[in-house]
Amino acid sequence: MPNVQILSRALTVVLALACSRVSAARSEPDAMELELSGGGVTSYVIVKPDNATPVDSYAVRILAEGLKQKTGVTFPVVASAGAGEQKRICVGVSAAAEKDLGRDPRPAMRDQEFAVRSIGQNICLYGKGVHGNLYAVVDFLDNTLERRWCVDEYYEKPSFNRLESLAIKPFARSRAPSFAYRMLGFPNEFNYQYGYNICLPPEVRAGWGLPEGTLPVFDNPVWVHTSFLYIPPDPGRGFPWLKDQGYFATHPEFYGENINRQRMPEQLCYANPGLRAELTKNILTHIGLLRKEKTDDRPILIALDQEDPATGKFCYCDACAALEQRYHSPAGQRCEAFW
Ligand SMILES: [Zn+2]
Repeated sequence: MPNVQILSRALTVVLALACSRVSAARSEPDAMELELSGGGVTSYVIVKPDNATPVDSYAVRILAEGLKQKTGVTFPVVASAGAGEQKRICVGVSAAAEKDLGRDPRPAMRDQEFAVRSIGQNICLYGKGVHGNLYAVVDFLDNTLERRWCVDEYYEKPSFNRLESLAIKPFARSRAPSFAYRMLGFPNEFNYQYGYNICLPPEVRAGWGLPEGTLPVFDNPVWVHTSFLYIPPDPGRGFPWLKDQGYFATHPEFYGENINRQRMPEQLCYANPGLRAELTKNILTHIGLLRKEKTDDRPILIALDQEDPATGKFCYCDACAALEQRYHSPAGQRCEAFW
């Protein structure tokens, strides 16, 4: 019984402490809180980055939309010069943001690192690289405005718990992704905001309903299932400059053996030296054509991946089996061709 009494006393003390914390929080509002909206108005403006990129403009737009959904209030979007001495939420680096930050923080940041922080009554959301400012805005929407996503099959939609008055506590967070280049599931807007940053050709973005400004890190001409674009088994299946090629008739050995050891136009046989040479030649031709067309110096990403048929492995031939054994993985069949 004494043990029960001790436990009971301890629980009483814990409960009393918990209650005192709650009542203290209720009776003493934090003088440092930032009142983002109240009574149907806001005293804040959203400040665009200086020299905003299309991705920055997209980030500013989803921030303005998120604040509107959360508070019912329209937060004006202004350029740095128009911010004056108003309370501000700065996206990216601008003259107005540098007044709060002291200097441009990006030289000390890693690529894609972002930071979200309040500085006095102002807020700075910034990051480095193509998507840094966007990731800062996404963090603010999720962790400060408590945005949630409602799943609707492939297409998710954000929602907010609407508040008539929104006051937030001072905050400071920063983070950087562990992997530089990411292709997470399908290229929809949800995945884009959470880091999908490669393999987004314009027609794929349009097909998946990605809005204006959702650009990848690299230019890349095609999305997935690209190996037959470079080594088309039949005429008409490859890139336009290979449209007359049908390699399966002339070089069946370029294609993988299935489990019954028959060459089938389903995947490539990467152990074959002739296939490697032809594939490399065609990819280099493609890079040369892309470089001629390009008007900027953004890097090009060439995607080379398997075709859709679920064949288990690229190829069951003896040479590919030996590579699989050497690298302890069916991926060894392909990796050795390029490493
Ligand atoms: Zn093979």
